[in-house]
Amino acid sequence: MQMELRLYPDPVLQRPADPITDFDDALRERVAEMYRIMYEEGGVGLAAPQVGWSAQVLVINPAADKDDSSRALTVINPRLLKKWGKTTDQEGCLSFPEIFVEVERPVGVRLAWQDEHGESHEDDLTDFAARIVLHEKDHLDGVLLVHRMSPVDRIQHRDALDELIDLFARKQARANAG
Ligand SMILES: [Zn+2]
Repeated sequence: MQMELRLYPDPVLQRPADPITDFDDALRERVAEMYRIMYEEGGVGLAAPQVGWSAQVLVINPAADKDDSSRALTVINPRLLKKWGKTTDQEGCLSFPEIFVEVERPVGVRLAWQDEHGESHEDDLTDFAARIVLHEKDHLDGVLLVHRMSPVDRIQHRDALDELIDLFARKQARANAG
């Protein structure tokens, strides 16, 4: 499968992703490819639907540095067990280039997930790491930055959103024309 970055309003971004059941080499190769694309695009997180793969897989690295993987995390089939606090900060998204909005998130979460070998994990994540994981987990539920926007944000970013919709329509038209 050729993985490439998908932009809003690609339909793969807007449906719930399927759980992973086979923890095989093919999965691990795809996870490695997701890290490669995330670093290439300068992101701190990437969810599988963003590269056209409707699967419950996300990767993060709050350090945004491929040479510092100390806080990198591969999260498969995540479940939110608990959340606490509230904090608002600016978020961007590789699928919405140039658009940044204020999003309220919990300060911390307790998360259960599996790694790329199928091992189960449970841990508390806080602050930036929690924000990234929650943003990427939104992707696995088909929830996007545009759904987290306030009415004012939507007006402010209407031109940029319209441009993305137009770009996608033209890309589809080219694909259909062969
Ligand atoms: Zn995103």
